[in-house]
Amino acid sequence: MPSLTRAEAAERAATIDVESYEIDLDLTDPAGSFLSRTTVRFTATPGSSTFADLEPAELVAATLNGSPIDPATLADKRLPLTGLAAANELVVEARMRYSNDCEGLHRYVDPSDKRTYLYANLFLDAARKVFACFDQPDLKAPYTLRVTAAPEWTVAANGEVARSADGRWEFVQTAPLATYFVSLLAGPYHVARDEHAGLPLAIYARQSLAEHLDAEAAELFEITKQCLDRYAELFEIPYPFGHYQQAFVPEFNAGAMENPGLVTFRDEFIYESAVTDSERAMRANVIAHEMAHMWFGDLVTMTWWDDLWLNESFAEYMGSRITAEATRFSGAWTSFAVGRKSWGLRADQRPSTHPVAPSRVDDTELALLNFDGISYAKGACVLKQLVAFLGDEAFLSGVNAHFGAHRFGNATLADLLDALTTASGRDLSAWAEAWLRTAQVNVLRTEVSLADDGTYAEVAVVQTAHEQYPVLRPHRLALGVYDRAADGTVGRRELIEVDLPAGVERTVLPELTGAPAADLLLLNDGDLGYAKIRLDDASLANVPMMLPLLGDSLARAVIWSAIIDAVKDGERPVAELVTLVLAALPMETEVVVVEDVLAMTRNLVDRYATPETRPAALELLAQACDRLLTVAEAGGSQQLAAARALIASTVDTARIRGWLSDEGAPEGLAVDAELRWLILYRLVKLGAAAEAEIEAEYARDRTATGERFSLRCRAALPTAEAKAAAWHKIIADADGTSARMAEAAAAGFWQPEQTALTDPYVARYFAEMPEMFRVRGGIGAEVISISLYPSFAVAESTRDLAAGLLAEPDLNATLRRTVIDSDDDMRKALLARG
Ligand SMILES: [Zn+2]
Repeated sequence: MPSLTRAEAAERAATIDVESYEIDLDLTDPAGSFLSRTTVRFTATPGSSTFADLEPAELVAATLNGSPIDPATLADKRLPLTGLAAANELVVEARMRYSNDCEGLHRYVDPSDKRTYLYANLFLDAARKVFACFDQPDLKAPYTLRVTAAPEWTVAANGEVARSADGRWEFVQTAPLATYFVSLLAGPYHVARDEHAGLPLAIYARQSLAEHLDAEAAELFEITKQCLDRYAELFEIPYPFGHYQQAFVPEFNAGAMENPGLVTFRDEFIYESAVTDSERAMRANVIAHEMAHMWFGDLVTMTWWDDLWLNESFAEYMGSRITAEATRFSGAWTSFAVGRKSWGLRADQRPSTHPVAPSRVDDTELALLNFDGISYAKGACVLKQLVAFLGDEAFLSGVNAHFGAHRFGNATLADLLDALTTASGRDLSAWAEAWLRTAQVNVLRTEVSLADDGTYAEVAVVQTAHEQYPVLRPHRLALGVYDRAADGTVGRRELIEVDLPAGVERTVLPELTGAPAADLLLLNDGDLGYAKIRLDDASLANVPMMLPLLGDSLARAVIWSAIIDAVKDGERPVAELVTLVLAALPMETEVVVVEDVLAMTRNLVDRYATPETRPAALELLAQACDRLLTVAEAGGSQQLAAARALIASTVDTARIRGWLSDEGAPEGLAVDAELRWLILYRLVKLGAAAEAEIEAEYARDRTATGERFSLRCRAALPTAEAKAAAWHKIIADADGTSARMAEAAAAGFWQPEQTALTDPYVARYFAEMPEMFRVRGGIGAEVISISLYPSFAVAESTRDLAAGLLAEPDLNATLRRTVIDSDDDMRKALLARG
C-alpha cells in the first residue's frame, strides 16, 4: 500500500494550490455503501501533472476541466491528473465503503436498539475513503458540504447548517481546513444545545445514551465554557471556527479528534455507570486538549507530519494546564505526573525511542509510528521546561505571534522557535538541540554527605545519561527539603530552585551546606523537570514513614513515580513496592494516585513476580484495597477505585459473587452495570463463572459497553473453545468484528492464570500477526498487536520467537515496533524474575 511521501507532498504543493472543495454525499443508498461526488477547484502550473487521492469501492466517473478521465487509470488509490491548466476543476463521482475501524466514514449499529450511526474520522490519511482529495496537511481549502440522509436523521459537520429539509442538508462554507480535519456525523443522534457569549454549543451522542448525555450535559457545558474563557484570556485570536460542537461517537479509536467546529470523542466519556472524580478530570482534560488544537493544529497547521509531535505536545501541555487553571479539577498536574508522564518516560527508554522532534518523517506511515508517549507526554514535559526557562509571558507572547503570522495557514517548528526567540530575546538553538533533537532521558540523583555534627557537608545533584545517548541537558527544577516535627506532622522547610547547566555532571547546592539534615530531600518537587529521579539513601529509607504525611499530592506523585520507576528498572524488587503500597497507599487522598499506583503495581506483579511469588503479592494488594475500602467515604471516588482494584486482585470469589446479589458489598457502593461486569470478568478468569452467565449479563445490559465487556469475558474463559473463538474474531474476521470489538477480545485473551491453556498461541502470535496487519490497518491494528502480545509468557523461548519475526525483512513497520518494544519489556521482566 503506497503511503504518501514527504517528497511527493512537497512536489504536489509546489505544483498546485487548492481553492475549494464541494462535497456531496448520499447516505441513503441501501447497498451498504455511500455515494460521494466531489468538485475540487485548484490552480496549477500549466501543463503540469499531479494526482488526487481516492479509495473507492467503485469509481463511477471523473472529469478534469470537463474532459472525462478513464476510471481504469485509478491505481494504488491515486487518480492521475495530467495536462493541468492554470485554473482547474476536478469532478469525481464514486461509490465508497463504510469503515468499521474508525478510519473513513465509520458505520455502527447500536446493539441496544439496532439504530445506525455514522461519523467521519479522517486522521491521518483517510480522507480518500470519503472524497477525492489532495490529502496532505499543507493543501488547506474551504469546504462546502451537502448531505442526503434519511429524513429522520440528524446531520452535523464542521460548518454550521445553512439549510436542511426532508433529509437534504447543506452546510456553510468552512474556513480553510486541512483534509484530515473534515468531519461529519449522521444518524438519529441525540443532541443537547447551549451557547456561550454568542457561540453556539452542541453535544451529540447515540439515542441509547440520551438519558446519560442529559445527566452529563451540565458538567460538559460548564467545562467547555470554562476552557473557552481561559483560552480567550491566553490567546489573542478569538475562537476561529463559528460554533463548538462535541460529538461522543461509538467505537472511536483514540480519546478524541480535534475537527474544527466538530470535535469527536469516544462515547465511553458519556458515563453509564459510576465513575471516579479522576475519570471526570481526565474527560475535562481531553476537552481542554482538543480545544487547544483549535488554535494549534487547526488554525495553524503543520506543513508536514514532521511536526505532528508539536500539535500533540502543545495540546497535552495546555490540556493539563487549562484543566488545572480553569476547572474544578485543580489536581490535573498530579494526574499528569503519576500517569501520562510515566507513559512518556516508558516510551523514551525503549529501543524504539526517538527525539521529540524528528528531523524528518519520510511518509505518512512513519508519521503514525511517532504518535506515541514521546510526542504527547514527553513533549508536554519539554514544553513545561521551556516555560520554566522563558517565563510564561514570553512563551505566550511568542505563541500568539506565531498564531497571528500563520492563521489559517501552515507552519513548522522553525517558525515557532523564531517567534519564541523574538518574544524572549533568547537564543533557543542549544536548548532545542538538547531537548528536541536527542532521544532518551537523563537520571538525576541527589547525593548527600553529612558532617560530624549531623549537618549537610554537601548536597549535590548528579546527572547521568544513557550510554547510547550521552547528552547532559540543561534542567530547571526544584528540590523540596522536608522535616518531620516532634508531633508527627511533616512540613516543607524550603523549596530550592535548581538550575543544572548543560554538559555538567555534578552540581552542588551551596544553600544546603551546613544546614541540618532533613528527613526527606525531594528532587523535582513540583514536577517541573523531565528526568528519572532517584532519592538519596536516607530520604529513600524515610519514604514509607513520610509519604502518607506529605500534604501536597504532586509531591506524593513524584515519589511514587520514582519508586515505581526503580522497580521497573530492576533496581528494587517488586515485593518492596507491594509492601509500600500496603503501608502507604491506604492513607492516600488523591484518587488518581490510588488508581494509577495500584494499576502500575498490578502490572509489575503480573509480569515481574514468578508464578510462585505472584499469589502472595496479589493477596497483599487485595489487603491494601480492603484497607482503602475501610477508610473510604461511602459512595465516593476512593471507594469505587478501591472496589475495582479489589475485584481485580482477590481470589475470594464467594465474596465478590455476593456483591452481585447485593450481599456484603461495601455500604454506599453502587454495584452497577460496569462493576457487575468487572466482577463477572474476575470470576470468569478464575474459572468460577461460565459462558451462560456472560450470556445472561449481556441480556441484562444489551448496550455497546455490555457488548464489549461480554467479548472480553468470553475471551477470558479458561476453555480451548473460547480461546479459539476469540482468536478467530481478532485475527481473521475483520469484516464481521470491528477493530474496537477485536480490541475488547484481545484485552481478555491472555491471563497470567491461564498460561498452560494459551501456550500454543504464543507461537501463533508471531506467525499470524503479519496477516492480521494485512486485513486490518491503522491504529486499530496497532492497538490489537500491543494488547494481544503474549506478555505473560515470560520466557526466553518467547524472546526467540520475537527475534525470528524481527528477522523478516518486509515486516510491517508498526508491527516491528510493537514487537521490539514488547520484547524489551519481556527482557526486563526476565531480569527481574532471574
Ligand atoms: Zn491531540
